[in-house]
Amino acid sequence: MMQNMDSNLSNAKNKFGNSRAVTDQNVLIVGGGHVGLSFALLLAHHGIASTLLEKMGYPTISPNDDSNRSHYLDSRNTALSRRTVQIYQEIGLWDELQSHACRIDAVQISEQGSFGRAQLNKDEEKVESFGQVMENAWLGRKLLLAAQQEPLIALIDHANVTAVAQQNDMVTLSFSYYGKEEHVQQLQASVLVACDGRDSTVRQLLNIGTTTYDYQQTAIVGVVETDKPHEHVAIERFSPAGPLAVLPLTDPDGDGNDEYQTGYRRSVVWVCPTGEETKYLEDDAHFLQTLQQAFGERAGTFVTAGRRGAYPLTRVLTDKQVDGRCVVMGNAAHTLHPVAGQGFNLCMRDAHVLAQMMSTQVLKGADIGDTQLLKRYEKARQTDQKRVIRFCDAVVHGFTHPNPAIKLARNVALVAFDKLPNIKPLIANYAMGLKS
Ligand SMILES: Cc1cc2nc3c(=O)[nH]c(=O)nc-3n(C[C@H](O)[C@H](O)[C@H](O)COP(=O)(O)OP(=O)(O)OC[C@H]3O[C@@H](n4cnc5c(N)ncnc54)[C@H](O)[C@@H]3O)c2cc1C
Repeated sequence: MMQNMDSNLSNAKNKFGNSRAVTDQNVLIVGGGHVGLSFALLLAHHGIASTLLEKMGYPTISPNDDSNRSHYLDSRNTALSRRTVQIYQEIGLWDELQSHACRIDAVQISEQGSFGRAQLNKDEEKVESFGQVMENAWLGRKLLLAAQQEPLIALIDHANVTAVAQQNDMVTLSFSYYGKEEHVQQLQASVLVACDGRDSTVRQLLNIGTTTYDYQQTAIVGVVETDKPHEHVAIERFSPAGPLAVLPLTDPDGDGNDEYQTGYRRSVVWVCPTGEETKYLEDDAHFLQTLQQAFGERAGTFVTAGRRGAYPLTRVLTDKQVDGRCVVMGNAAHTLHPVAGQGFNLCMRDAHVLAQMMSTQVLKGADIGDTQLLKRYEKARQTDQKRVIRFCDAVVHGFTHPNPAIKLARNVALVAFDKLPNIKPLIANYAMGLKS
């Protein structure tokens, strides 16, 4: 059954109470994870309407109920670069987000059993902070709430995409509700943006290939408590087993009134060879002991560990990001190793640029789904994307190579990085996402 946009929008209106300005030009977004929701909000900021389809069911969130988000030691977290924070400031969301964000004032980089060490400090680099660490649950909740309250965004959840067809002046998307064939519907728009994750259905429906690399590593993520306060220091540590990041966290409610002391909670991303993850997931004592061995005393004693999750790590790069009136974005475009906390931040810069370009196009009265425009976007993002992809891979391979000569070279490089005056600001700017 073919339906026009308006009748589907009223579905979304019934569920979420949104009213919406219907414009001639609409954007269809498939995938309402953090990237899809952020992109929809960026478009709305520019006055562009979008319809977002998400496969999972969204909870209905009350704006006044911020309780019971997650347990003290049970959360997944994302390091947001300064550029990402600026983008959320630009669309007026940062005030909502920041109560659960923990500043990164310094970054320490070192390798287990080696002399090389480097440190970046916010005062030396004359910045407010290097970024902020935020609970994924909080970020997701606030993005969803903002999208539900935004009249220019229509959310349709329980929607699974089944077909994409492109015409000269529009793209037609078929999707089913609750996976039921009898509930297949269609939507049409000027442009479709696929934010449906690493295994993107839209990318497959468009027959766009990928280049995939299996790191044969698994990231173990969780929250720990140490007996020494984190003092807003992020620690990147390289061990023979794999890289390890320990990031500072706020107290769970962000109000400083928890039964636990503020300032001792840290997020851990521990990367191990795939196949070894079970013992780190199931055995708290073993996990804490391994962290302690890898870290020595620089973070104090690891006292308690929360529940941990495992993420097998694969780099997936799409062969192209634009096909006709369709754009592939987020993890669907580039899924990266989490070692340097760059993946989501890169996606946010992509989303920001595309929303900006579409806005300029609207002001000119031109077609926002014009392939030439979308190709200009793809080209404009190449340098930043390639740099981040290369950087993540260099860190993973460079720091896990067992060859003693390479180990010496990377330690000399770390010392040089710490001492040479012009290199630190440059790298700091890259890490903060301020240079592309
Ligand atoms: C362990 C780990 C730690 C990380 N830490 C950081 C960090 O500190 N900093 C950083 O910048 N990045 C980090 N990243 C990367 C970051 O998590 C990703 O870049 C980000 O989650 C990508 O979001 P996304 O919305 O593109 O994809 P996803 O989060 O995968 O969302 C895709 C969405 O699409 C929906 N979907 C899928 N198929 C369909 C369909 N057919 N129809 C409709 N909807 C569909 C899914 O349900 C989902 O909601 C980390 C990654 C890992 C694994």
